[in-house]
Amino acid sequence: MERRLEEYIPVAGKDVVNQLYQLAEPLKGMRVVHLNSTREGGGVAEILDRLVPLKRELGLDTVWEVIQGEPPFYVCTKGMHNALQGDPVDIGPDLLRVYEETNRSEADRLRGLLEDADMVFIHDPQPAQLITHCPRRKGPWVWRCHIDLSRPHRPVWKYLRRHVKAYYASIWHIPSFAQPLERPQYLIPPSIDPLSEKNRDLNSDELQATYRTYALDPDRPILLQVSRFDRFKDPIGVIQAYRLAKRFVPLQLILAGGTASDDPEGRLVLEHVRDAASGDPDIHVLLLPPDAHRTINALQRIADLVLQKSLKEGFGLTVTEAMWKQKPVIGGDVGGIRLQVVNHHTGFLVSTPEGAAHRIRYLLKNRGRLNDMGRKAYRFVQESFLLTRHLREYLTLMVGLAHNSHDRIEL
Ligand code: UDP
Repeated sequence: MERRLEEYIPVAGKDVVNQLYQLAEPLKGMRVVHLNSTREGGGVAEILDRLVPLKRELGLDTVWEVIQGEPPFYVCTKGMHNALQGDPVDIGPDLLRVYEETNRSEADRLRGLLEDADMVFIHDPQPAQLITHCPRRKGPWVWRCHIDLSRPHRPVWKYLRRHVKAYYASIWHIPSFAQPLERPQYLIPPSIDPLSEKNRDLNSDELQATYRTYALDPDRPILLQVSRFDRFKDPIGVIQAYRLAKRFVPLQLILAGGTASDDPEGRLVLEHVRDAASGDPDIHVLLLPPDAHRTINALQRIADLVLQKSLKEGFGLTVTEAMWKQKPVIGGDVGGIRLQVVNHHTGFLVSTPEGAAHRIRYLLKNRGRLNDMGRKAYRFVQESFLLTRHLREYLTLMVGLAHNSHDRIEL
């Protein structure tokens, strides 16, 4: 359901919403394109699904397009994704050819839209090469990186960099991901929509029903990790942490996830997770459909503790979502999780299953501390990671780009 901007006033404040109208004024009528590789599954789709309608409501003629490829294209881009997050894998010439051909043929399909746009935001590596095939660009193109590029496998970054160099500018979540490039680089962390099905308040009947639907015991603590089934999310490490902690506290574990249409590895990881979990009726591995937003919301609310034990993480919207529900998060000490989990304040940063188990045990035995951290986590999200802040930063950047040669911008 589309939201009206006014509805954000009670959560974000009137001044914040007014400022959005003010910033959007000089951009009205502008044709803006966002382009990524999937309409559902994963954080990028989640963000665009919320951001694009609000930009439209503010008067920007905004379109969300998705690059489409055959299965080998996604095998290539998943390999690229893994390598850019540090896996030492090389991508063979055949797969790179598929990548280049898909970008070329998708450029043929989308060229009119892209070249005529006043501003284009290309998200992540999958469609990064489109720029090469669109030489008559009317407006600036910006590459928006959502992944943890702090220690990329060099040959793959070197390859991608050739395309990224052609962009007018790039946007990153945090400084440590940014790479040497000659063009301007901007930092904009992601956000959640507090009014979406995934994040809005739910009544207690719905929460009670969730225990029944998934055969959960309301009297024993629940640990939760919500993630695509992806090795970098370390679901096996989560199971290990749960097993270690369960020696000291009664526990149930939910691993809830789905697969994204641009992620061909999900099935295999899910099989490993099911093997690792087999024989323990207190581990609930839930394969959810892509629109299970309310279910995820309810699970995050009934959980006592939320884990996001990633080994690499661009940002981790699931961390923000849990914090918004007043849950401290035990998160991997990596990437964008570090921006959200302020160690010992809004959760704990951990590097091993043992470390995670130690923190699980500590928080479940110290409920006062758990609740206090949960409240701090909520406030931190309210100040820093809501959609309204994200939109403000996008609009500010766009005003800057649209008035590039001006010394002074009247709003
Ligand atoms: N998500 C979902 N269903 C799932 C798994 C994840 O809707 O089965 C959502 C999750 O709630 C979050 C987003 O997908 O909003 C994942 O974003 P995140 O930044 O945590 O990770 P990514 O998948 O982008 O690496």
